[in-house]
Amino acid sequence: MASNYNKWIEIDLDIVRSNLQIVRSKLAEEVRLIAVVKADAYGHGAPAVAQVLYQEGVDFFAVSYLDEALRLRQAGLKASIMLFCPLICREDMMEAIENNLVISITSPEEASLLREAAARLNKMVRVHLKVETGLGRFGLTAEEALEVCRSLSENSCIYLEGIYTHMAHAVNRKYTEKQFSRFQQVIRRLEKEGFSLPVKHCANSAVFLLYPHMHLNAVRIGTLLSGQHPLLGDFNSHLSLKDPYKFKARVISVRTKEKGSYLGYFRTYRLKKESKVAVIPVGFVDGLALEIANPPLNWIDFLKMQIKRFLAYLDVPGFNLQVKINGSLYPVRGKVFMQMALVELPLEADVKAGDEVEIPVRKTLARPDVPRLYIREGEAGKLDFANKVTYLVEEG
Ligand SMILES: *Cc1c(COP(=O)(O)O)cnc(C)c1O
Repeated sequence: MASNYNKWIEIDLDIVRSNLQIVRSKLAEEVRLIAVVKADAYGHGAPAVAQVLYQEGVDFFAVSYLDEALRLRQAGLKASIMLFCPLICREDMMEAIENNLVISITSPEEASLLREAAARLNKMVRVHLKVETGLGRFGLTAEEALEVCRSLSENSCIYLEGIYTHMAHAVNRKYTEKQFSRFQQVIRRLEKEGFSLPVKHCANSAVFLLYPHMHLNAVRIGTLLSGQHPLLGDFNSHLSLKDPYKFKARVISVRTKEKGSYLGYFRTYRLKKESKVAVIPVGFVDGLALEIANPPLNWIDFLKMQIKRFLAYLDVPGFNLQVKINGSLYPVRGKVFMQMALVELPLEADVKAGDEVEIPVRKTLARPDVPRLYIREGEAGKLDFANKVTYLVEEG
């Protein structure tokens, strides 16, 4: 079935499930888990990931935008879905209410829009207030939170269910505690005025790991479910999280080239010895060799970036670009093409056209039109492709 594709993404839903169990094992029973499945569940495919989490008993999800939530509703997800981002027009507000989404209010203007929309629809809507405590993104000030509570609590269709904030710099204890105490102050102030919002949350994955006292009664977890450790940026053995994602393709050509041959545009690479050269059907259009590059934070950061590039230039494993074929790693050579790339193999490597190759395409950059294969346990874990796959969800 998948032989029709020359590239595809494998998502192992059993790994998603085991990552969920690891998160739950660190969570007190009374604390709710809000599973964050924004950005297509961090590139894993939001409908399939949400479905498997839902089957495991997760009943509360969150995404950034309205279209992401609607996609999950269209896929049949019945659970609570919260929107993190503001809704800025009445039509969107109404669509969110009609689809039973949990709405974040981040400004007094949104509160007025919500009142109008709720009045028109006469339908119950659940609301969480988003408080700004130091991230510098969006959210209510303490004064605004009080004003919004007053204006929304008059409307019997609006249920003020929760209040939350988002932390900027979890590894910095002092700053995080400061944000936390600002958040607590807002809550106390509202409570003094008679408003109590039952669901309180401020922990993302990093805060969840570092500060158990900040779990309050709900946590918002995305990164850990994707198998990544937010603090190390990589896989963490003591938590035994795993990555459910693999980007795969089939080798489309293997040819032997003599020593001194140039590879690719601009002849940026010259073979140092006679080698085999494999062509893989993945290029920069697929996100290969693209990195997320924020401007350097300071000169040390700038130096670190340059050192990494230099190590890549020296072909130091872990810094250079490598792909995995039949269990071995091989370096990508020359400039990556738009839709292809070249891989150098030693002469003795037993690799031929049609062989499977695993490619380090960042999951959040992979194109949505690459088919996703969702793997579930229960099948003989053979290498035979068809046997391994219990179902395929093609999107788009
Ligand atoms: C993305 C996001 C999260 C989840 O963060 P992770 O570090 O991926 O767990 C939680 N809350 C908000 C508001 C977010 O935008």
